[in-house]
Amino acid sequence: MIIFLTSTATTAQIAEVTAYCERAGYSVRLSKDADQTVVSAFGDGGPLIAAEIRRLPGVERAAPISAPYKRASRETHPKDTVVDIGPLRIGGRQLVVMAGPCAVESLEGLREIARAVHAAGASMLRGGAFKPRTSPYSFQGLADVGLEYLQQVRALTGLPVVTEVTHPELVERVSAAADMLQIGARNMQNFALLQAVGASRRPVLLKRGMMSTAEELLMAAEYILSHGNPRVVLCERGIRTFETATRNTVDISVVPLLKRLTHLPVVVDPSHGTGRRDLVEPVARAAIAAGADGLMIEVHDHPDRALSDGPQSLHPHQFEALMDGLRDIASAVGRTL
Ligand code: PEP
Ligand code: MN
Repeated sequence: MIIFLTSTATTAQIAEVTAYCERAGYSVRLSKDADQTVVSAFGDGGPLIAAEIRRLPGVERAAPISAPYKRASRETHPKDTVVDIGPLRIGGRQLVVMAGPCAVESLEGLREIARAVHAAGASMLRGGAFKPRTSPYSFQGLADVGLEYLQQVRALTGLPVVTEVTHPELVERVSAAADMLQIGARNMQNFALLQAVGASRRPVLLKRGMMSTAEELLMAAEYILSHGNPRVVLCERGIRTFETATRNTVDISVVPLLKRLTHLPVVVDPSHGTGRRDLVEPVARAAIAAGADGLMIEVHDHPDRALSDGPQSLHPHQFEALMDGLRDIASAVGRTL
């Protein structure tokens, strides 16, 4: 239920509406700005009768929330959410670029890559320590050692770190080491994991499942939001289609679509989206032109020797060129880089 209060509603009246909803078993989110107070009531804690609510003093109108992803929906939160990571803001005017290797492979390598992407203007360092690989024989990541390297390199460069968490039991350890938790495409509907990161205080980068609809992505976000974590950033990373010339098909249209449906920030990963180094830059440009709040890009100092995703990893100089080329597009759509 979404309840709009009159502009003259008193604090006591707002409290009464909130208490009414809570008594009916709903959890409540209050959003207030200069000219409107909105009470959103979430859950299925019992019948909440719109007619009864409309009769409460101070209520202008009340209507059911039409989207199934109630907390993620713009209906209940018309303003854009900005996710803060220290001084970094995802979803504001400034675009956020997360860059780094697919996997953390060595301390020296990570340090080199981090220095290069930092110098080129990246604002976060990415790198997997726990790698969900299609083949059990592929490199699975350095696990805790990888987390340790990420922390060391963060201390060196000051770049906040985003890294994947693959199991509910790992959430505490990864949260202690990273600034942002990544849920990979393969785990987008791992509901136990979504609940676990929902209970964490770290912001979450939620990647779209390769066979998931926009609505399923938003329902996955809803799991995290409804378990108490409001800091969720969505990531389009390509979906599987009949096309085999690219690793996945980047759904550019989902960017403006999500912007309409939800208040959560949206970033695009053209590396996994295309699987091809030569396509990363043009797709990155398209994503920003379409309204994305940022990018996630794989960069490696020796892509030909990378233990995972070498063919889609940019050389540091290519990443630098990509960043330079993005500035004009950013300013054309009212953003800064
Ligand atoms: C990754 O970011 O390294 C990754 C595994 O991505 P995805 O989950 O989108 O495949
Ligand atoms: Mn990768």
